[in-house]
Order: sequence, then structure tokens, then C-alpha cells
Amino acid sequence: MVAEKGTDHTNQEQEYDVLKSTQTVIHKALDKLGYPEEVYELLKEPLRLLTVKIPVRMDDGSVKIFTGYRAQHNDAVGPTKGGIRFHPDVTEKEVKALSIWMSLKCGIVDLPYGGGKGGIVCDPRNMSFRELERLSRGYVRAISQIVGPTKDIPAPDVFTNSQIMAWMMDEYSRMDEFNSPGFITGKPLVLGGSHGRDSATAKGVTIVIHEAAKKRGIDVKGARVVVQGFGNAGSYLAKFMHDAGAKVVGISDAYGALYDPDGLDIDYLLDRRDSFGTVTKLFKNTITNKELLELECDILVPAAIENQITEDNAHDIKAKIVVEAANGPTTMGATQILTERGILLVPDVLASSGGVTVSYFEWVQNNQGYYWSEEEVEEKLEKILIKAFNNIYDTAQTRRVDMRLAAYMVGVRKMAEASRFRGWI
Ligand code: GLU
Repeated sequence: MVAEKGTDHTNQEQEYDVLKSTQTVIHKALDKLGYPEEVYELLKEPLRLLTVKIPVRMDDGSVKIFTGYRAQHNDAVGPTKGGIRFHPDVTEKEVKALSIWMSLKCGIVDLPYGGGKGGIVCDPRNMSFRELERLSRGYVRAISQIVGPTKDIPAPDVFTNSQIMAWMMDEYSRMDEFNSPGFITGKPLVLGGSHGRDSATAKGVTIVIHEAAKKRGIDVKGARVVVQGFGNAGSYLAKFMHDAGAKVVGISDAYGALYDPDGLDIDYLLDRRDSFGTVTKLFKNTITNKELLELECDILVPAAIENQITEDNAHDIKAKIVVEAANGPTTMGATQILTERGILLVPDVLASSGGVTVSYFEWVQNNQGYYWSEEEVEEKLEKILIKAFNNIYDTAQTRRVDMRLAAYMVGVRKMAEASRFRGWI
């Protein structure tokens, strides 16, 4: 019994190990593309990982030492790019995996970047505004040597926002002695942010949902949609789906979920949510996150955290299309189960690439000092994502692989080629 339990535990740990899973799929993708083993050896880990300790004076006068990371996966194509996550569960392994995913996203939407990612182990929900400012500035000072507008360009991620980007940009600019808006993206508009960056991830998810629905003969107007997570991606997405005439029947936050078969009042929920995406605490009749994922619906969008659809619940998912707005919400085993069940799975590295695409637009505008209209941003984003979706869908069909493997094949190719031309492999 004990041994059996131990094995189960090990299997589950492996299933939930996001770095291992992403390495396995990268290996498969490179194999399919015919690359030799050394290409995998180069790409299986970030080229660089910096761990920093950040002392922060707390409001009560004490000093707390925070741990932060910045991973740079591969800079063969160009500078590395990716967000900074503030979360108590941040680990070195997760940051590494997230940096690899950023490389894949940049490859899929064909941006001149490699992937990077940062994270700080902290809980911003229990920190004051001033403590967050000191932490943000301390992190920038700690990683300043390896980042910069032509080296590695950070951005928002889980529990970071445009205010945090503004503090970080200011800190970097003071150290650099130049105003450096191109150091970071996701800034407020007045500091060189781009129109449409705030809602870009959700806009991108909306565009791929429309494309996926077409493939499955589903009309988005009237479709039943479930969104897990009510943070930046989830809340904007619920709004866009609602505006497109879909019926958003379920939403959730970290504390519970809401369900209404006739469609939830999204505008009311958006009005009541706090800045961390919490809203369900205000309601008595909630359901669990597990029940939410298994609801009767047409389109399910996990927009929260990793490892939500696993081998334990993949058989119970009733959606016809699953679109991953979060990073890594479906395990490898669950991907196989969903694909075998004929569910169209749009993988994270494709579905959530709208954020980094508009970040790229922001960086281009900063470099040019010439700013675009919201319509211009939207038009360009739509063109890029429709092309990326169809490229991956066609690759999956012609190479007879699932959508995730197809996305990895598309995402990894440019990086492998660039590394080869540079003479690294
Ligand atoms: N954090 C976002 C992501 O995971 C955006 C990264 C960026 O804009 O650079 O895709």
C-alpha cells in the first residue's frame, strides 16, 4: 500500500512538473522537425538564470528579504522578453518553464525576441502600496546588469500591473540616466504604454476562440462559455465574450466559482471585482472550481494558473473547445485525453500570445517615439493571431500531431535555426 501510494505521488509530481512537461514536448517537437540531440540540449533549459535577494523595508520598520528570479531562455533571435510574476508559489523551476514558454510564444507569432521570465516570491495581496513600490524598485536594481531595452525586456504577469511597470521603468531610467521607456512594457499610456496592451491577452484569446469556433462549426453568438479566473485575462475575456453575444455561464476566482445557465451579469461582476480579480466572496451560492471546469458548455477557458485540467478531471470536461488563456493549465496526460476525446485544445503558447504581441508593438513605438491608434494595434494583432492559429491548425492536421505539439514545432523552429546560423550548434 505504502509503495503504491508513493508511486502515485511520484507520478502526480511528474504530471505537475511544468518544466519536465515542457522539456518533453520540446524534445518531441525537435525530433519531428529532424533536429539532432544537441539542439535539445541547448534549448531544454534557459541560457541564464539569476537568483536575487531583495531586502525591503516594510511599513512596520522591519526588513524582509524577498527572493526573486530572472530567467533568459534563448537570445539567438533577439533580446529576451517576458513578464514578472509576484506570487507566493513562484519557484525557480516555474520561472524556467515560463521563460521557455515565452520563447515558444515569440516564435509562434514571429516576434524578433527570445523568451524570458521573472518572478518574486511574495504575496502582493498582503502588502501595502509603498511596500510593493520598494520591492519593485529593489528587484530592478538587483537584476539591472542583465536587463535593458536591447537585452531583456520585462512586462506584467500574474499579480503585476501597469503601476508596477511604471515604478520599474522609473528605477531603471534613474540608474541608466536616460528616460528608457523601452526597458519594460505594459506601462501606463502616459509613460509610453500602448493602446490595447491591458486587454491584449484577452483580445488574442478572443481572436483564437473565433477561429477555433469556425473550425468546429460553433457560432460564438449564443455559445456557452466558462472562464476560470477573473484576473487580467479572465475578466477582459468574459467581457469580450459577453459583448460578442456569447453566454458566459461560469466564472471563478481563487476562492470559488459562480454559475448561471442563463448567463452571468458580467458588467456587474466586473464592477465588483477587486484589483486581484476577487469577486466570488460577495456571493452565497457558489460552486467549486472543480465543478466549474466540468460544467456543460461549448467553450472552456482556463485563465488562472497551472495544472487545472489533469488526468483526474480530463474525462469529465464537457466543453467542445478548450482555449488555454493561462500558462500551463492542462497537463500532458490531460492534453492526450482531451485530444483523444475530439476536444479542440488551443494551447497556451498560441492562445495567450496576444499579450507579448502588443508588448512588442509597445516596444516598437517606444523605439520610434511614434505612437499608434487603438484601431491600428487591434488590426495588426488580429492579422498576426489569425495567421498563427491557422498555421498551427494546419501543422497539426498535416503532421498528424495534437495542437500543442504543432504549436511547439512552429514555436521552436526559428530559435533552432537562429542558434544554428550563429554557430552555437
Ligand atoms: N506575461 C505575459 C505572458 O506570459 C506577457 C509577456 C510580455 O508582454 O512580454 O505572455
